[in-house]
Amino acid sequence: GKGKWKGIDDKDLLISYNALKVLEARYLLKNPETLRYVETPQMMFRRVASYLAGVEREKRKEIEEKFYDIMSTLRFVPNTPALMNSGTRLGILSACFVLPVKDSMTTQNGDGIYDTLRAMALVHQQGGGTGFDFSELRPKGDVVASTAGVASGPVSFMKIFDVSTDVVKQGGKRRGANMGVMHVWHADIEDFIRSKTGDLKDVQLQNFNISVGVYDYFMEAVMKEEQVPLITPRKTKIKGTDHEYYIVKARNYMREDWVQEEILRELEERGPVYLDESKIITVDEALAIAESEGAIIRWVNARNLFQQIVKGAWDSGDPGLLFIDEINRRHPVWYLGKIQATNPCGEEPLLSWESCNLGSLNLELFVKEKNGKPYIDWEDLTNVIKYAVRFLDNVVDANRYPLPQIEQATKMTRKVGLGVMGLARALIKLGIPYDSVDAIYVSYNLAKFIYYQAMKASIELAKEKGSFPAYDPVRYKDIWESAKEFEDILAISEVKGEPSDYAKAIMAEAAKIDISELKDLRMRYGLRNATVVSVAPTGTISIIAGTSSSIEPLFALAFIRNVAVGKFMEIDPLFLEYLRKYELDTPEVIKKIAESGEVGDNPFVPKTIRRLFRTAHEVEPMYHVLHQAAWQQWNDSGTSKTINLRSEETEETVGKVYLTAWRLGIKGITVYRDKSKSQQVIYFGLKK
Ligand code: UDP
Repeated sequence: GKGKWKGIDDKDLLISYNALKVLEARYLLKNPETLRYVETPQMMFRRVASYLAGVEREKRKEIEEKFYDIMSTLRFVPNTPALMNSGTRLGILSACFVLPVKDSMTTQNGDGIYDTLRAMALVHQQGGGTGFDFSELRPKGDVVASTAGVASGPVSFMKIFDVSTDVVKQGGKRRGANMGVMHVWHADIEDFIRSKTGDLKDVQLQNFNISVGVYDYFMEAVMKEEQVPLITPRKTKIKGTDHEYYIVKARNYMREDWVQEEILRELEERGPVYLDESKIITVDEALAIAESEGAIIRWVNARNLFQQIVKGAWDSGDPGLLFIDEINRRHPVWYLGKIQATNPCGEEPLLSWESCNLGSLNLELFVKEKNGKPYIDWEDLTNVIKYAVRFLDNVVDANRYPLPQIEQATKMTRKVGLGVMGLARALIKLGIPYDSVDAIYVSYNLAKFIYYQAMKASIELAKEKGSFPAYDPVRYKDIWESAKEFEDILAISEVKGEPSDYAKAIMAEAAKIDISELKDLRMRYGLRNATVVSVAPTGTISIIAGTSSSIEPLFALAFIRNVAVGKFMEIDPLFLEYLRKYELDTPEVIKKIAESGEVGDNPFVPKTIRRLFRTAHEVEPMYHVLHQAAWQQWNDSGTSKTINLRSEETEETVGKVYLTAWRLGIKGITVYRDKSKSQQVIYFGLKK
């Protein structure tokens, strides 16, 4: 009760037991000698608030109070490194990094293979995750001129990165995480696809998620069952700098007009360009050049290659896909170059050396109740977004960067990623089942509202503190112009239905936004951050906040959670609340549910509850995809999501999910079929 316990902040009572376990294990500061804790959860939030307010010139104390308020009430929680490292000797506050890998042992720019290995170690040591595109490395068996030797290929170098990740273990606080990308035209692509599945599942590259970078030309070739060339990046002059790659791709495969006109003009002004600039060559001409250079190693059937990817994903969850064209088409600062890779979980497609810091809104806490009826508190949400964006923007300045290249690239664009968690619980509180058209409608409009408010907050900041250095009001691309309509998303997915009047009433505030205002505003006042939103997995911070993770459905109503510090059995408290309402919280009912993790068709439980509490594996795959698509439309970076599949789902389902994701304009996709790996973080139910 209030004031009862001297020295204990009431807000500490918001922290659940599991949250406390997580905080205690890794977040709360200890005295290094005595190993005694020197802070409580509230003191941690205070440390973070005070450190991040420290970069303000004016009203520092007032802003610190706002930062403290939004965190301590768990309405906004920043990503793990910011919680762990703020105000301590370790200076990285960001979770996401992308590092370049050039086809050389070391280079002057510090982006050769072993330079990058070192950079990765520095980032991991402090709790950041790293992504890499390995496509510039020459394929296995290719020549190494300086030693007259034979190259061992990208996958063998990835193994070194993997071992280093194991060794560093991220400063003992956080396990290393990597994203390894290879683009689909690379001659070693089949080795790459196989590198984590079949016999190598649970064995190789365990600190990597892997994704194949695919292009529209490839997806179209899959549908038409056409042949595509596999290329060695070393031999062809269609290689080398990013610019060269991009121009070739632009000229040949990405046929959209804006690529032709804008990118070509921009990039040709900047870098060394190999191909004749006076004309745009055709696919056939480009291929003829590559062929004459001996760069085309062989031709493969695109459908066949796609099937290998799908088989791997079905078998082990890897590889996922990154849709490189979509990523670049919707990159607001496209004029800075081509994005080749993302961070480990895919929510941040970044240019080489860029980093991004994240933080998430706890959606559950914005669903309130008046006269027994749930509603969304838009005003509160708007206010929290405003300070959350300010907080994340301050992280860019408060960060102590491990390398000058990272600092430089990050400060050029000042990308931040405001995301969400607790969607599933917010929907339950609204009485809307996750796998319904209404839920997709809520996701779509929430995403739109949050993006709009975050952009407004960033424009306000620009007014006060200036735009990000690379901001070009004319070339900056407004991603909302290419957002698909809600109806189109449904149509593409072939899910039928319309939002109910109830859902429309709940979302009325968001639906009336005039998004085009953003353009006038940013033209007038500037923009502080090249990107403002991002949907992260919120693996740990959702435990700290005591809510469901990210935009995922509930995993299970009762389950065992395996975390670094041990095993926990959990029963979802919201579910328990509902059972109580119906006086069903009896040991028999709960025990039965805990055995499987699901209510399924448990006859004790009323239909409404069963419908509302469907868990990740009960939700049809297409509804998973639809939520991801809804959030991606209003997202200037990426949307991390795992399409959780039942163990008995087929390869055909995986193929359909991957193809539909591409059509829906999703930037990257990953599936995970239950029990397809020996180790998984969460086990469902008690018996399984
Ligand atoms: N990440 C990492 N190691 C981990 C978990 C996460 O490096 O063990 C990085 C990775 O880049 C990931 C990002 O942190 O994409 C965000 O993950 P999440 O939202 O789960 O992090 P949280 O802030 O909840 O710890």
